[in-house]
This record gives sequence, structure tokens and C-alpha cells, in this order.
Amino acid sequence: MTLYFGNPSRTGFILRVVFPFFAAALALSLAAAGLLYWSTVKTDDNAIARQRALVELVVSQLRASIAHDQESVTVWDDAVKGVQSGNQEWLDANLGSWMKTYFGHDAAYIVNPANQPIYASVDGAKREPSSLANIWSPTSALVNDLRKRLRRGDRAGTSDRVLTIGASDIVVVSGRPAIISVKPIVSDSGEIEQAPGEEFLHIAVRYLDDSLVQELQSDYLLDGLRFSWTAETLPREAKSPLTNSAGDVLGYYVWAPYRPGSAVFTSIWPILSALVVFGIAACSGLVLVLRRRSLSLNRTQAAIRHLATHDSLTGLPNRNEFDHRLEETIAVSRRDDHPMALLYLDLDHFKQVNDTLGHPAGDQLLREFADRLRRATAEGDIVGRPGGDEFTIILHRTQDLEEVERLCTKLVESARHPFDLAGTQVFIGVSVGAALCPNDGKTAVELTRKADIALYSAKANGRSGYAIFNAEMEALIAQRRELERDLRSSLECPEQFEVHYQPLFSAKQRSVEGVEALVRWNHPVRGRVPPDAFIPLAEESGLIERIGEIVLRRACLEASGWPIKTVAVNVSAVELKSPSYAVRVANILMSTGFSPQRLELEVTETAMSDKDGAGQHNLAALRQLGVRFALDDFGTGFSSLGRLQQLDVDRIKIDRSFVHGFGSATGDEAIVRAIVGLAKATGLKTTAEGVETAEQSEFLGAIGCDDLQGFLLGRPVPAADIDAILAGRPNSVWRA
Ligand code: C2E
Ligand code: CA
Ligand code: CA
Repeated sequence: MTLYFGNPSRTGFILRVVFPFFAAALALSLAAAGLLYWSTVKTDDNAIARQRALVELVVSQLRASIAHDQESVTVWDDAVKGVQSGNQEWLDANLGSWMKTYFGHDAAYIVNPANQPIYASVDGAKREPSSLANIWSPTSALVNDLRKRLRRGDRAGTSDRVLTIGASDIVVVSGRPAIISVKPIVSDSGEIEQAPGEEFLHIAVRYLDDSLVQELQSDYLLDGLRFSWTAETLPREAKSPLTNSAGDVLGYYVWAPYRPGSAVFTSIWPILSALVVFGIAACSGLVLVLRRRSLSLNRTQAAIRHLATHDSLTGLPNRNEFDHRLEETIAVSRRDDHPMALLYLDLDHFKQVNDTLGHPAGDQLLREFADRLRRATAEGDIVGRPGGDEFTIILHRTQDLEEVERLCTKLVESARHPFDLAGTQVFIGVSVGAALCPNDGKTAVELTRKADIALYSAKANGRSGYAIFNAEMEALIAQRRELERDLRSSLECPEQFEVHYQPLFSAKQRSVEGVEALVRWNHPVRGRVPPDAFIPLAEESGLIERIGEIVLRRACLEASGWPIKTVAVNVSAVELKSPSYAVRVANILMSTGFSPQRLELEVTETAMSDKDGAGQHNLAALRQLGVRFALDDFGTGFSSLGRLQQLDVDRIKIDRSFVHGFGSATGDEAIVRAIVGLAKATGLKTTAEGVETAEQSEFLGAIGCDDLQGFLLGRPVPAADIDAILAGRPNSVWRA
């Protein structure tokens, strides 16, 4: 079976859903990671810039604070007096080692107005004043500059907090970076006069490595801080240049900076990774669920489509779908220029199966038959079921007419094999009509119409056969229409209908037991039309009831005086199923005075099959009157031996096709023997039809068949001839 929605390909799904989804997820994750990285770097850069600024600030504040420290002792009357007196002990206690212990200055020097050192202290210990020579080279410029400014009376930079001007710079002293700050020693009261520029000067030195580095480390948490003369750093270290007043870089403070961004990142990345993994897992789950949903949706859609386009019982394409495929196949056939064929099939006697065995059995039969068709057709051919007991087949590629005929034969035969329905063997048949493309038609509509005509013709030719469309069929249909018109008008003049009688003989006594009434239609123009040519038409067109009444009434009138047990009259299924049938028969019997016990109505199994319908009521009512029933044409079409016992009849008439089959390989003798045996066991009388040879009559007599009918014994003849047969020469036609 073909699913039109098909199975959506895995690659399609991956391309349409999975790939875009994961691409989007990846892009989003990358963007988030990028943003996180960027903010981490940015935060770290900001933090490092702050730490750098902090180092610069500390150094510059240190420069200011050293000057401020100095002023606590240099602006003081006692100091002026102290330096003038040169009292070394006093100087050491107040302007020298005290500066070390109190402010942490590394060295202190005092020079007189002639710039000669008068005091020196290094690391809190008094030194020779001449040791000033060690720092004089970077200091002299500051000293000279300050004196110049003092002489000029320059007050720039003084305030409430900064009382005197000074000079300071960052320099290299004894191979170490240091701040050197120079301040004049002046009177705080103003009482001690000094000439500007002629003051004693106090020189303070503060190294910017060792102890400062330690202070910075502990106070400002600058990890691994060190002083370096070069700009080289280890990876992830930060540096801050140490510049003098002229802007020259003397060296660098280098440290492992605190990176808050990285710190935060380090602490949150496991959580983030877990979240990403969880997110991807959740999304994958979602994609999987979506995939399942979409697959099951596709399956449902495919199933719905299949339901809409196929017959639920047999799984075959329904009418719409079949028509659709027919169009397609015709298009391909026309394109590739190879012939194709369309077959219409109609099961014979299917209705009886449904009526007698029930719908489940009917369904089973249809399924089984559909399987047989599937097996009988080739790959690429299409079998459809438009409805009911009709089937259709497209032969997508046919070589020639013979091939179509071979298949038709095969199909007809496949239907003849008995169907085993819930333990009952059922025989039915199929009629097939075929039309070929392009010979018979080039469109679906044309082909369908012609296949239908062929089917009609196959059925008209006596079912269980096939017909391939030909132009005469159309003419035949037109003829049938004319025939129907004529039949209708003939009913206005009943004298056109005549009844002939065929005698039935007892196989044992070889005496005439009864006659069968057979209608004859003598048309003024057409001549004698055989019943097989107009009875089916009369059944189809609803004229049969009128004809049936004419025959019955005529038979009752003509045969009432004959010295025979029974007069058999044929009843079509259509008649028996008419609700008023029993009443109409009773009326005829009453009006003609014919005894109901002498009437035998011949019905077919078709008529017997509607279990609960009007047919059964008619049957029961007429039997009550004493009318007897015979089952006509037994063995043709739908019949089941198993059902014989259940049929409410008095006689079965074995179809002449069995009698004709005697002596051939079909085993018909065995079948007839079985039928007769079974009928006897059930208490039914048997009549064999179509006895044409002495061998047939002998065999039938030998196996116990009750009555015989056939050309050997007597042809159907007009009433007058029967009179003669019965009166003068009772057994004149008996030639056995
Ligand atoms: P049937 O009921 O099976 O009638 C027997 C048919 O077999 C008759 O054909 C008869 O002529 C033919 N027949 C008898 N003996 C032989 C024989 O030895 N060999 C061969 N080959 N045929 C034999 P007929 O008269 O042409 O009738 C054909 C069918 O038309 C009947 O078959 C019956 O089904 C139907 N029919 C005839 N008259 C009536 C009628 O009044 N009402 C209805 N409903 N159907 C009728
Ligand atoms: Ca008959
Ligand atoms: Ca018959």
C-alpha cells in the first residue's frame, strides 16, 4: 500500500528542525559566553585600572605627606635655633632619628645656607654630615631650585595646611627609587629673622621599594607587589609606572592584580556549565518529543488519508482513489505509447450470500475475493473496489488483446473456486467487462463507460463470463432499449404471449407426471423472441410481474383439464419478492378454479435467499394454500449443498449444465449423484433438466432421480399438442 503523506525522511527532519534548532542554541550559547567573557574582561580591566590608579595615588600622596611631615618640625622657632646652634643631640632627637621613628622617613639631612651639611641620619642612626654626598647628585638641583624660589619670595602651593614652599621629586638614590623632599627651616612665630634663600634646609628621603612595597601589599592587598626597573612582567601581572616630575619613567610597580570578573566567573562557571548542559539536554528532549509527535502526526495523517482513499473492508482503493489512479495510468500510457486496459467486475449472486449467510460472511467473501484479485494481477496493476460487489482493475501495461482475455479467463475461474465461509462452501461467479486504451477510449470517462457496457454484455450473455468491449455492444444496448419498448407495448396486446408446455416424465414409470409452462413471445415484426432474450429485460424493467400473471393465468386455464399431477410455472425472483405476489396467485387460482395442489412454482435460489423478506412470506402463504415449490436450475451460480436441507421446497431441478457435463472430465456425474442422494435423504423430489440422450436418462434413472425433462423426452409444445400427447399417445415422445 502506498502512503501518500509518506514517511517524512529523517534527513528532512534533521535539516528542517534539528539543525536550525541546534544552530540557534549554539549561537545563543556562544553569544552568552561572549557576553560573559566580555563582562569578565571589562570588570577585570576596570579593577586593574583602579589598582593602578591606587598605586599612583599612594606614591603621590606619599610625596605630599613627606613634605607635610617635615613641616611639623621645620616650621618651628626651636628648630631655627637648633640648626643655628648646631646642637647635634637636639637635632638628632627632633629633626633626625625622630623622623624615622615617627614618620618612617629613611634618611634626614640638614644643610646650612651655604649648602654645607651639618647633620645626617640614615635609618634612624646619626651619620657623618658628609654622607650627604651619597645623595647630593639628585638632591642639589632640588636645593638650588628651592633657594631660588625662596629668594624670589615664591609662595606658590602654600596654604593653611602647607605653610612653606618646598621641592621634591622621585629619584634614584644608591640604586633605589626614592622620594627626596627639601623644606626650609623657618620660624613659626616670625620672631627669628632669616634672609630669603639663606635658610637652613631639611632634606628627607623615603625609599619607594622594600618597606613601601610591604605597606602597599598589606594595606591595599596588592598581591605579590614588587618594584621592577624594567617593563617586563609575568603573564597576568599588572604594572604601574613610577615617573618623576619630568615625566621620565624610573621603573614599575608590578603585582598580580585582583580580578573580580575572573573570580566571579571561576565561582559561577560550574553552575553555568551545568545549566548549559541541562539546557541542551532539555532542548534535545524537547526536539525528540517534537520528532515523535510529528512522526505520529504524520502516521495519523497517512492513516486518515488511507481511510479516505481506501475501502476499509478490503483495503483496496475506493472509487475516488481508483478514478484518480486511472487518470494517472491513462496519462502514462498515452505518454509512453503502450496500451492499458480497464476491467469492471461484478460478482454474481453476491446478494444471496449476504441474505442467506449474513453480512459477516458476505464481508469475508469480499475480502477473500479481493485477495484472489490481488494474486491474479501483476505488479503495478491496480485493483479497486468502488462499492458493493463491484471491483475494478487497471492493467497498467498490456501487450495485446489475448493477454487481456487470458486474465479475464483467469479472473472468472478464480471466482468459481468455492469460498469457504465459516465452514460453508459457497459457489459464486463473476462477470467481467473490459475496455482497452487507446483502442476503446482515451479518457477515464470513456473507458469506464465502455468497460461498463462490456460488463453489461457479459452479464447478459449469462453471467460467470467476460466480454471485451466492441462497437456492436453499443448497438446491442440500443437494441435492448428498443426491445424493452416493444415488450412494454406488447403487454397491451397479451395475445402476443403464448405458453408452451414441456412434459416431465417419471424416470421409473416413464409416464408424464406434469408439464412446465414456458412463455413464448410472438412479436409481429420480430417474430418469436426466446424467453432468455426478454425475461431478464422484463425483470430489469419491472414488466415481469405482468408477464408472470399472463403465463400463470393462461396455464391454469389451459391445463385445468389435463390428466396430470402438476403444472409447473416459472416465477422470477422479482415477482416472488413483491409483497402482493401470494395474493395475486391466490386470485388467479380462485378465478380459474385451478387446484393449488396441482401448481408447482419454480423458483431460483436467488428468490429463496431473502430470509426475512416478502419472498418468505409469499412462500409460506402459498404453501399454506397447498402450492408446491421447486428449486430451479440447481447448481448454477450461488448454491450450497449444505443449505439444501434448510430450503423450504418440495423439489429440486438439477440444472441442465450438469446433465450436459456427463462423460466429460468435470466429474458432473459425481455431483449429480451427490445432489440426488442428499435430496432423497432430505425428502425432496428431483428432476433432471436437459436430458438429451438415452445414456443420460439411463444414468439418471439408475442413480434414483425421480423425474426427467428434456428434448429426448419432449420439447416444449403448444397447449393443443399436449392435449394430443396426453389423450391419444401418452408416451409417444418417450423414445428411451
Ligand atoms: P428453465 O426454467 O430452466 O426452463 C427450461 C428451459 O430449458 C427451456 O428453455 C427449455 O426449452 C429448455 N430445455 C428443455 N429441455 C432441454 C434440453 O434437453 N436441452 C436444452 N438445451 N434445453 C432444454 P426456454 O423455454 O427457452 O426458457 C428459458 C428460460 O426462460 C427458462 O429456463 C426460464 O428460466 C425462463 N422462462 C420461461 N418461461 C418463463 C416464465 O413464464 N416466467 C419466468 N419467470 N421465466 C420463464
Ligand atoms: Ca423452469
Ligand atoms: Ca431450469
